[in-house]
Amino acid sequence: MTAAALRPRIDTAALDAATAAVLIEKYGYTDEHLNTLKQLGSRTWVNARHEVETAAAVLAGSPPPVTAVTEFQGEHRFLSNFWPLDEDASVKDYTAEHWYQAEKTTVMAERDAIRACKTPGEAKELSQNITVREDWDNIKLNVMRKVLEQKFSLPWLRFQLLATGSAVLIEGNNWCDTFWGVCHCPRHGGEGMNWLGLLLMQKRNELGTTSL
Ligand SMILES: [Zn+2]
Repeated sequence: MTAAALRPRIDTAALDAATAAVLIEKYGYTDEHLNTLKQLGSRTWVNARHEVETAAAVLAGSPPPVTAVTEFQGEHRFLSNFWPLDEDASVKDYTAEHWYQAEKTTVMAERDAIRACKTPGEAKELSQNITVREDWDNIKLNVMRKVLEQKFSLPWLRFQLLATGSAVLIEGNNWCDTFWGVCHCPRHGGEGMNWLGLLLMQKRNELGTTSL
């Protein structure tokens, strides 16, 4: 049995010896993992693995596992739209932010100028002074969904998103973005719709039920 045969989903109710052998050999499962997996029922292997490890950490007396990502910084910086899409960022610091902001306008010269910005911060700033298409507010969620679709088609990012397991993803910020995230300034005090976090979790769910 090849690893590909495991995709997209392991039916743990029928976890046969061959499948178990692959999990042990390729993914480092122990018998204890497999027993827990059976008890968890039918899940995608990534989420099941996450839950197995979480359970093991709790049993071992480790600190409570991360159940929410409350800002896209540090090890979770890759969730930010400012994360470079090239593995070798020195080639070109092109990001989901460039992509998203460029979609704001139908004026080709303006799009090109945004795409050519050296950093995502510059792309965002430039997008404040362009001809924004009239239907932008109606389409921006779908545009972001498509941008994330492309971003997380990159294997190393796809894996990292899946590795967040079942953690709630919240784009916490202090720059008053209450549409894409949740703002923690004194005025907003944790208010926000968190659309970016919601779209990322939706994307993660999709990835969890398709092949890796
Ligand atoms: Zn605020």
